[in-house]
Parts: sequence; C-alpha cells; structure tokens
Amino acid sequence: MNRTHSCGALRLDHIGQTVSLAGWVASTRDHGGLIFVDLRDREGLTQVVFDPSLGSDTHTEAKSLRGEYVVAVTGEVTPRPPASVNSALPTGDIEVRATDLLILNPAETPPLEVGDTSRVDESLRLKYRYLDLRSPRMLRNLRLRHHMAQAAREFLDRDGFIEVETPLLMRSTPEGARDYVVPARTRPGAFYALPQSPQLLKQLLMVSGLDRYYQLARCLRDEDLRADRQPEFTQIDIEMSFVQQHDILDLSENLTQHIFRTADIDIPTPFDILTYREAMDAYGTDKPDTRFDLKLAKLNEVFAHTQFRAFAHVLAGGGTVRGLRVPGGASLSRRRLDELESDARQSGAKGLAWFQVTPDDIKSPIAKFLSPEEVSALRRATQAEPGDLLLLVADSFETACQVLGRLRLGLGRELDLIDSSQWCGVRVTDFPLFAYNADEDRVEPMHHPFSAPHPDDLELLATDPLRVRGQVYDLVVNGVELASGSIRVHRREVQEKVLSVIEMLPEEAAKRFGFLLEALQYGAPPHGGIAFGFDRMVAMACGEDSIRDVIAFPKTAAAVDPLTGAPAHVPQHVLNELHIAVKLPPRRDEEQSRAD
Ligand code: ASP
Repeated sequence: MNRTHSCGALRLDHIGQTVSLAGWVASTRDHGGLIFVDLRDREGLTQVVFDPSLGSDTHTEAKSLRGEYVVAVTGEVTPRPPASVNSALPTGDIEVRATDLLILNPAETPPLEVGDTSRVDESLRLKYRYLDLRSPRMLRNLRLRHHMAQAAREFLDRDGFIEVETPLLMRSTPEGARDYVVPARTRPGAFYALPQSPQLLKQLLMVSGLDRYYQLARCLRDEDLRADRQPEFTQIDIEMSFVQQHDILDLSENLTQHIFRTADIDIPTPFDILTYREAMDAYGTDKPDTRFDLKLAKLNEVFAHTQFRAFAHVLAGGGTVRGLRVPGGASLSRRRLDELESDARQSGAKGLAWFQVTPDDIKSPIAKFLSPEEVSALRRATQAEPGDLLLLVADSFETACQVLGRLRLGLGRELDLIDSSQWCGVRVTDFPLFAYNADEDRVEPMHHPFSAPHPDDLELLATDPLRVRGQVYDLVVNGVELASGSIRVHRREVQEKVLSVIEMLPEEAAKRFGFLLEALQYGAPPHGGIAFGFDRMVAMACGEDSIRDVIAFPKTAAAVDPLTGAPAHVPQHVLNELHIAVKLPPRRDEEQSRAD
C-alpha cells in the first residue's frame, strides 16, 4: 500500500478519489455497524469509516484497532453526511470509506494521553518524549523552530555570512559557568572542555580573515539550573570584522525581525536605545519590558531637606530615593501592600513606603512625616493621579532600582498594564565592563573577558575598573534578553590589561589563553559579535513559557534526561581505560550502590 496523501490533505476536491493514508490511530468509535477511526500523522487527522458492506474482513480487523496502532488504509474519499461535518477540522468535510486495512504495528496502551498533554506531568512527558512529541502542540513547536532556524540561515547567508562549525571537544571558554569536561583517553589525566560558547574560536576565525561568521551553535554550561535553563542550548552565534557596535546591532535587529516574521510576529524596528545606566535608572533592570511605559522616578530632590529620618539618612549616605507610580494601584488591599513590602525586603530593600493617591491628598503610614510641600512635589515628580499607588524605596542606586524594577514588572502583570499583543525591542548598550562579586570578593567581567573597554575609559582600567564602560550590549524584546555581545579586544596589550583586572596573572593568562594572545599579534582585525539565545526566541514565538517545550529532548531542572536515563554510570573497564578512579562521598556511595 503506497501512501498517496497525508492525514491533513484531503478536502471536498478529492471526493471520488481512491486514496491511501498511513498514520496512528488517534481514536476509534464502534457504532455497532460502522467503525469510525481518526487517523493521525504530523499533518493532521482524517476520519476513516469501516463499513461491513465494503468488506467484512477489513471491518472485522478494524475492530481490533486501539489507540496508537500504526496502520495504512485505502479507500474512497466521500463527503461526510451534513450532521457530521466538523468545521473545526481542515479535513472535516470528508471521510475515507476504507476498503483495505493494514496493521503495520500494534501498540501498547500509552502511559499518557497522546495528543493533548497539557495536563500530563512533565516528567512523564519527558520520559515518553516520543509520545509527547506526537501532540499537535509539540509538532507545531518543532516545525516553527525549524522555520525560524531556516530564516536565520537564509538572512545571514544573504548578508555574506559563512556558517562554520567549531569543535565540541576543546579548551575551556569562560562564560561564567562551570565546564562540562570530557576525559581524554589518549592523554590520561587531561580533559577536554565542552564549549560554553564558540567565543574564542569565532574570534580566531576573524583573525583568519573570515570576516563574517555565524553558526547555530550548541553551547554547554554546567550551571545550577535555574527555572528555565538547559545544560545544553542553542545560540545563533555571530562574529564580524571591521564593524562598530551599531553595525552589529542594526544587523541583529533586522535579523530578529526577520526570524519572528516566520511566526507572523512583527517586531517594529528600530528598537529603542538605552544605555545600561539609563535602563537601570528608568526601569530598574537591564532588560526592560517597554510594553508599558511606567518609569521609575528619581526623588532625591523632592526629599533633599526631608525630616523623615529613613530617607534623610539614605540620602546623606550617598543613596537614592526612587519611586514607582502604579496606575489604579490605590485599590490594592492592605494585605497586598504588606506582601509587596515583604517582597521588597526579600529582594534586599530595607523597606518599602507606599502612598495611596486621593484627589487632594495622599494616604500613607509615613504621610505624617512629610511636609505639604514634599507631598505636592512627590505628586508632581511621579505624575501621580487620583487612584494611583506610589511605591518608594530609599537605598543604594542598585538596590532601589532593582527592587522597584521587580515590583514594576510584577504589578504590571498583576494589574494587566502590559499590552501582550505588542512586541517591543530595546538595545541596551554601555554595560559596565566589570562587576563586583561580593560573595567571592572579586571583580569579574560583566560579559566575558574578551569584551573591549569603551575607548574613553581605557585610563580607568588601571585606576577604577568598576567604572569602566564596556562596548558590551544586549538586545531585549518584551523584557527578555534575546542576545548579548560586544566589540572585542583585538590588541594583545589591552587584552592583557583586561585579564589583569580580573587578577589573571600573565602566566595563567598565557597558559589558558596563550593561543588567543598570540593570535592577536598576527594581524587581528577589529571585530565584534553577538549571540542570540535561540531556544528562548522560539519559545517566545510559540507562546511557550518554558524552553523545554521547544527542545525535542530537553533535560529536567536537575540536568537529567528521564528518557535515556542520562547521566549514567559507565562500566569499570571504561574508567580503567581512562585511568579514572571514582571517589564518592560516603552517602553518595550508598545511594549509588542502591541505584545500581
Ligand atoms: N559568547 C557570548 C555569549 O555566549 C556572546 C558574544 O559575546 O558573542 O554570551
């Protein structure tokens, strides 16, 4: 039996034709005489009717069909009787009256409901991923992912980019996570690192004169998995020579727009442009969701001479008072306000002051500490309207902005202030080159150590590195960081200086990145690049919250693959060959022998 059509293809035009379909039994209904079977493949669903008058053997065999049996059927396309026309289904006007049935493979009763897995526990879906992927939702996601990847390739190819594959077995690339390492059998005791990104290799390709590189690259990072990370993920990785920041960002915006059009989403360009400082200042985050235009207000002047001790104290110490206007927020209950305050404290603020704005006054536990002038200046500075709520935090710049930024986003969602039909892109530039890691008391690169300092800040490298701005940038859409990149250091002496700021001594730098430092001496052109988190882009286009729903075989939050059982132990002889002795802490050891 040769398949003539897919299960999504047949229409009224096909009436009278004899066709053969193949697929999975989605459902069967035995109406005594007639047996109805919905046959499914990746293109859709077709109703097949087994009528005893068309062949009693076939009809008898059809009685044995169960969900997920794989079958082929041949029969004539006929119009459905008017009462059973299903306008929700593209094939809903017709049915196939089967004359032949071939059972290609019976199936056990599936452990989850195939087709609609929205209520199925995710670990079960991952364990039986091949069944989960039969659902229209997952097929649609994988198909859209494919089209978006095609669109990226087509766009970049048209623009003169060459796709180059870079190795998976290599030396460590520092992107701020732990490396996955692979033991090298041929050099016992030595390990490859799986790439956290192709960063150094794409830079070397620029030294090679490749000029414009891209790759749909797999990146591997051994991170403590936060909510929506995967140990391996895909980037659209880009590097360009003889360009400036705006060239890379222009291209990246257009690429973003082009890729999302595949999903019928139009992201308007040009994107807004904000420096890191401006983004923090106005939105309290470096990934502002600009679909709602609420900005934080700087209130230092309003409270410059305040008698209210908490504010005066912070301002005297060089801190700031920032405010957020929440339209219509005056109606929030007292309990909700208490919750907001405890959220703010949890995010690191010392407190949260709130004001309910009435037509000619404000209500607040701290109102009595403020002068009438301060109250009216506060209303003016925040452009408060009756019915609004004002939230104020007095703290260091970072804490005040970040805490209010978080409240802004949470309340924006809660109060339905975000127009979810809109798509808003922002480029955020001028990130600091370094950040201070208080836990480890050291200075770290904000992006990675190959990003170039702002030319005006070169002097500060030696004196005040935390004030050095980097030529580092992000693309943000709807509050989600879609891509990050930078102009790179292309001169050895500057690279060495940057590495010395992060306390990498010349010997260590030479050991870890000697090949890069050397390459910079052999005619490295000015260059820069960017990398897009492709899984996140696809998830946004699919309207999925989790990137796991746009990856065919993802891992759980514990970095485990419930389908294959990876990671797994390997036989002793494999370890022997690698000269590896496994030494587990005692408790793990016990757990292990139980698991084995
Ligand atoms: N390699 C960087 C990253 O993975 C991106 C870039 O700078 O191009 O974040």
